[in-house]
Amino acid sequence: MVEPIFKRLVIIGIGLIGSSITRGARAYGGIADKIVICDTSPAALARAEELGLGDEYTSDPAKAVAGADGVILCAPVGTYAALAQAIAPHLAPGCVLSDVGSTKQSVMQDITPFVPANVAFVPAHPIAGTEFSGPDAGLADLFRGRWSLLTPPAGTAEAAIVKIETMWKILGAQTARMDAAHHDRVIAIVSHLPHLIAFTICGTADDLAGETRGEVLQFAASGFRDFTRIAASDPVMWRDIFLNNKDALLEMFARFSEDAQAMARAVRKGDADYIEDKINRSRKIRKSLIDIKQA
Ligand code: NAP
Repeated sequence: MVEPIFKRLVIIGIGLIGSSITRGARAYGGIADKIVICDTSPAALARAEELGLGDEYTSDPAKAVAGADGVILCAPVGTYAALAQAIAPHLAPGCVLSDVGSTKQSVMQDITPFVPANVAFVPAHPIAGTEFSGPDAGLADLFRGRWSLLTPPAGTAEAAIVKIETMWKILGAQTARMDAAHHDRVIAIVSHLPHLIAFTICGTADDLAGETRGEVLQFAASGFRDFTRIAASDPVMWRDIFLNNKDALLEMFARFSEDAQAMARAVRKGDADYIEDKINRSRKIRKSLIDIKQA
């Protein structure tokens, strides 16, 4: 029998992403002999145990990581600095520390100072998710056909990077390595800005008082419905993402605002060609996403 990648794998934060990893590890095998689940939420921990998502359960991260050869942080990114500080003295030599955070420069800044010399840190970000959260939301095949982007710091042991890549491949994802700053700019436009727009448009609709508001909800067209699905995402997670990818998000927002202004100007001036051209370009983007099976 082939040895699994990890003997003792610790998942800290058993929400949508953490529980999808444990479900996938169970379903596909080859990832871990033993899965230890750690979460500060007593309800999430109890539910994870009920669902049988792991082999051990604890709310104490220091206890969880003792003797582990793999640790993956799956809590909101705003918790990573404190978590790294709490677990660092208890990490075993040779352990591979990873995470799934949606921002990578901030995560590396927050975690790297605490990583012991004999521990490898391999940051990762699976580009997969739903608007649901918590241990019930996870799916064994959430990552199938998706990407997981790795941003290992220069000098990280190749064997440690390969372990994390192999884990994501078993879970069905393709992997790519990239620079953390590049990651943050790319993800700001394809994920963080669309969420900012969705939260904003729902707020704008909600601000329309009385009769109109009722009609917005009653006659919600598919465009608005799609925004409400994105906007149903977890507030703590998204608050942390916005605050931890501030520069890239604001840069993309500024570019978007210019383009939105240009579209509004075309509407005001009756510039039919401009409007049609933009819509045609959008349709092509949608078609190319379908062609590469990312839609
Ligand atoms: P989630 O479903 O809300 O689960 C997060 C879990 O972590 C919750 O049970 C939470 O408990 C717990 N937690 C909070 N602080 C903790 C701490 N200090 N120690 C241990 N556990 C803690 O979140 P998620 O959607 O799985 O997201 C987790 C991470 O994945 C985030 O960093 C996010 O950026 C990243 N990510 C998310 C998506 C997505 O689409 N959802 C996609 C890719 C990556 P409480 O509920 O009590 O706070």
